[in-house]
Amino acid sequence: MAYLLEQKDFIFTILIVITLARGTKQNENLCSNHTYGISIISSPPSDSSILHLSLRMLNLEGHLSFDNISHAAKDFGNRYYYLPCAILYPKSVTDISTTIKYIYDLGTTSDLTVAARGHGHSLEGQAQANQGVVINMEHLSGENMDFYTGNVPYVDVSGGHLWINVLHETLKKGLTPKSWTDYLHLTIGGTLSNAGVSGQAFKYGPQINNVFQLEVVTGTGDVVTCSENHNADLFHGVLGGLGQFGIITKARIALEPSPIMVPKTLLHQEHENYKAIHCMK
Ligand SMILES: Cc1cc2nc3c(=O)[nH]c(=O)nc-3n(C[C@H](O)[C@H](O)[C@H](O)COP(=O)(O)OP(=O)(O)OC[C@H]3O[C@@H](n4cnc5c(N)ncnc54)[C@H](O)[C@@H]3O)c2cc1C
Repeated sequence: MAYLLEQKDFIFTILIVITLARGTKQNENLCSNHTYGISIISSPPSDSSILHLSLRMLNLEGHLSFDNISHAAKDFGNRYYYLPCAILYPKSVTDISTTIKYIYDLGTTSDLTVAARGHGHSLEGQAQANQGVVINMEHLSGENMDFYTGNVPYVDVSGGHLWINVLHETLKKGLTPKSWTDYLHLTIGGTLSNAGVSGQAFKYGPQINNVFQLEVVTGTGDVVTCSENHNADLFHGVLGGLGQFGIITKARIALEPSPIMVPKTLLHQEHENYKAIHCMK
């Protein structure tokens, strides 16, 4: 507790320093002499280094990295390159909530933006944050998948899981997602933010039509559960929302019994075993 208080005090002190630094900066700008196109003001203290320092003080289970961040400035489109100031590698939903709450509380003292990054397969710099914080969602994917195998089966999965891994796990139970993407090395959160279409969409609709419930970290850092009947605005905003309405940390995905025969390309060892068992019946 004492440690927490000390940490809070430290962060508070840093915020005061940021505010003073910004005030000084503004005053300097007001007083600067640009008559001859030359500023007589020496460089103001860098806000960003103070912000980095304060971010480092956050109490996280995972960690924030300020080095080796260039990969988060690239995506599949390879057309946009926005370098973040840090990458968050969350170990828990609380890590994401803590970081966003902290940035939200900074208010107008900071220009920091936040972007969730799934597998980085979007094209237009969508998962990038210029000098902001990129959240590496795949780092969350260590969380367990929880199954309900009753009449209307579903699986609760982390937003950072790849669909290919969800398929592997569901097949072990004789189930598959009802709607998926044709290419499966994409994250749950990434495709639910973009719709997610495949050959099954003609029958069941896109992936966003086959989600029962979401857990979302909102822009204020709150962790909110939403569905068709509960916080419906958030639910419908986040689905297909391009990451702008909150961060999907968990999704309840609709499942159906898997077919006994599937195309050869989808067969992996676990599925071979499963098929062999069913064919023997
Ligand atoms: C080779 C290839 C094959 C593809 N095949 C298909 C296909 O068959 N069907 C199809 O529908 N699409 C397909 N796409 C498009 C792809 O589904 C989308 O670009 C998808 O958004 C990429 O998912 P990702 O995990 O890489 O997300 P990213 O590219 O990392 O992120 C995409 C967007 O989602 C946001 N985001 C990521 N995670 C979260 C989260 N947890 N919560 C909130 N927002 C989040 C990001 O901020 C960003 O705005 C394909 C793309 C490629 C490159």
